[in-house]
Amino acid sequence: MSRRKKLYEGKAKILYEGPEPGTLVQYFKDDATAFNNQKHATLEGKGVLNNRISEYIMLGLGRIGIPTHFIKRLNMREQLVRQVEIIPLEVICRNVAAGSMCKRLGLEEGQPLPRSIVEFCYKNDDLEDPLVTEEHIAAFNWASPQEMDDLMAMTLRINDYLSGLFAAVGIQLIDFKLEFGRQYEGDMVRTVLADEISPDSCRLWDIESGQKLDKDRFRRDLGNVTEAYAEVARRLGIIKPNGTAPANDTGAGTDNGEDE
Ligand code: UDP
Repeated sequence: MSRRKKLYEGKAKILYEGPEPGTLVQYFKDDATAFNNQKHATLEGKGVLNNRISEYIMLGLGRIGIPTHFIKRLNMREQLVRQVEIIPLEVICRNVAAGSMCKRLGLEEGQPLPRSIVEFCYKNDDLEDPLVTEEHIAAFNWASPQEMDDLMAMTLRINDYLSGLFAAVGIQLIDFKLEFGRQYEGDMVRTVLADEISPDSCRLWDIESGQKLDKDRFRRDLGNVTEAYAEVARRLGIIKPNGTAPANDTGAGTDNGEDE
């Protein structure tokens, strides 16, 4: 890993050059940040859990025909992905009011929305990822009309799939964030799901108790952050019921998913 060329380092992941042209290695760090980097911590084991959870979800989405950048998991913290040109949008899909939507519209957290709502934010850390409309996206050509159709259709389909997946294990999918990329194949371009889907990028509440099983535990200092992520992995059957160590692991890492 350390001998590979680092191409990009983000808040929670690092991208390295992949073994073949058109591939990248996506490395999941234990770092957690919130409020535009003002809050930062290392949560031991988070990267291992997000690698596994995101792998599980990307594989499931692939099976229902959603094209993703995911190729295969390499070890405890790394996955091989297709190199894509990231579309500079964060696509947020909401089922229940929470987070920034409550602040913006004066809604009560936990209020079910009349229908699923898709929002777009312009990916720009300096501007704190502002909410934008389809007018801005078209005018500044951040995504083509065809790509917008693809993003909308794929996001709603992913919402249906994820809502069912989590509901089956007693978890309500409140909202989530997706990123998409352009995959070039000769003179063809296709829109593919990129980045990750994990408790870092979703709001997940236990259906019975309402307990938060996502990054809000970190944002709001609720404690037991990694335990909550491990609970999500355990319910999905990704890790063993009686421990935090991922089952069937082929990775060479020494991480064990324990909390800080
Ligand atoms: N989200 C994310 N990355 C971001 C912003 C939001 O993964 O940079 C996720 C967040 O975890 C939540 C959803 O997108 O599941 C909606 O987030 P919101 O707009 O409410 O922002 P927040 O309250 O997290 O600042």
